[in-house]
Amino acid sequence: MKEMIYQTVCPGCNMGCGLYIREDDEGALAVDFMKSSSANLGKLCRFGMKLPHHYSKATSMVDGKEVSVEDAVQAASDRLKGANVTMLGVGNTTNEESLAFSKIADTLGTVVNTGMGVYSQLPAECHPTVGVGITLDDIESASRIALFVDPYVQYPLLVRRILAAKKNGASVVSVGWKDLHLADENMYIDPDLYESELGLDSESVIIADVHPNTDPGWVKRMLNLALKTGAKILFMKPFVNATGVDLLCKGTGQKGIPEIMDGINEGSIKTLVTLDSDPIELMPDGDAVAATLKKLDKLIVISSRDGPVNKIASIVIATEPLYAKAGGFMNVEGQVLNNSGESTTGIDAMSTLSQNLGGEAMDYQNLHNNVLESIVQKYTKPKYKELVCEVLDIGPVEEKKGNLIYLFNPFMWFDQPDDNDFVMVNMNMVKTLGLSKGGMIALTSDAGTVNMRYKVEDMPDGLILTAKKLPVATGWTTMVSTEAV
Ligand code: SF4
Repeated sequence: MKEMIYQTVCPGCNMGCGLYIREDDEGALAVDFMKSSSANLGKLCRFGMKLPHHYSKATSMVDGKEVSVEDAVQAASDRLKGANVTMLGVGNTTNEESLAFSKIADTLGTVVNTGMGVYSQLPAECHPTVGVGITLDDIESASRIALFVDPYVQYPLLVRRILAAKKNGASVVSVGWKDLHLADENMYIDPDLYESELGLDSESVIIADVHPNTDPGWVKRMLNLALKTGAKILFMKPFVNATGVDLLCKGTGQKGIPEIMDGINEGSIKTLVTLDSDPIELMPDGDAVAATLKKLDKLIVISSRDGPVNKIASIVIATEPLYAKAGGFMNVEGQVLNNSGESTTGIDAMSTLSQNLGGEAMDYQNLHNNVLESIVQKYTKPKYKELVCEVLDIGPVEEKKGNLIYLFNPFMWFDQPDDNDFVMVNMNMVKTLGLSKGGMIALTSDAGTVNMRYKVEDMPDGLILTAKKLPVATGWTTMVSTEAV
């Protein structure tokens, strides 16, 4: 049996965990560990281990009919000529494809939106600090770590780094939604007290994150905390190349996905082109997003995967699986990690599209050189001043109501099934509602009711956490009424 072995990077988040994908001659995939990978030393989380499920192959389509990739490119070229186009690329593909996409945007007189609306709310001098983080090794040498994410659920291979830091003498304080076992202290305090109570200084590291649904006020608060305490700060991101795509797009197109959805609903956006970015998967309420996308005149999807957006797109330009692509990714610490794959189907399709639209021809080598020149350079992080910020208020909560909060994680960003089929509540909620052992909790919002199993965690009153997308959610936080069933 002939087998192909690809060296690649897990697309689950921008830790950039290296691995091998083995593909047999029938297309069956298996994951192998890559001990030489600097980010993860061969370790993978549950999402990384389940990667074969993630790589569903896309099929080129025009108006619901299967076609060749060439015909899909031709149809896309015809429909994009003269159109007022909005483009979205969150960083789920290589630097080289992202750059090709951005050159098409130039030709069309538009920009690539990275979906991270938070950047548009931040002064430009803050972007490098949010964009490229500290090295993962810096975490291990910190004397104190303040966690504003749940690494177990959201960025699992971070746990290894934090445990290494603890072994080196670091203390860990968690300021998340629920108690974390690896933290020495779990604090639920007023954000105004962070500076005085968290014990941070220049030997400390703050770990937070940004994603398409992040509250800008929260990011400003994190930046202020780093500024005032002198602590280093690392913003994790959910997409393998979120860092690279941000640098390549240089802050030109930072419309968030919610803003793009608003534009479609208001009628100001009629044509959307996406590059490996499925808004139905990326937004909390997939059904509402699908209904919005159906209002577009033209929805053109360039994708290596068969996501839900492919099913409603007018045109799908299918590219090769991510692991087979020539090119690389920039992880959260600014390292460029290259695939061993040599396939350029996606780049070739975008080159033809570009030429058909009056732009330049593109080839992999030129794009690759261009990537090296534009983003692999010495990073300078300009100083920024204290920022004025308001943080989204999520409380107080009435009795028998709860704030359902998405604990975003790799499975959620790609809408993939996971074993986490429960919500997390605290003991007070169990008692107030009279939840029985092995029973369920009914959650009701304007979007309907869902019955869920529950797990008890140490966490503040009034919160219900979910690591799985739920049909009752209308945003990353949703007020729900609760009942025992
Ligand atoms: S931590 Fe992130 S990059 Fe690493 S295996 Fe898990 S999902 Fe993939």
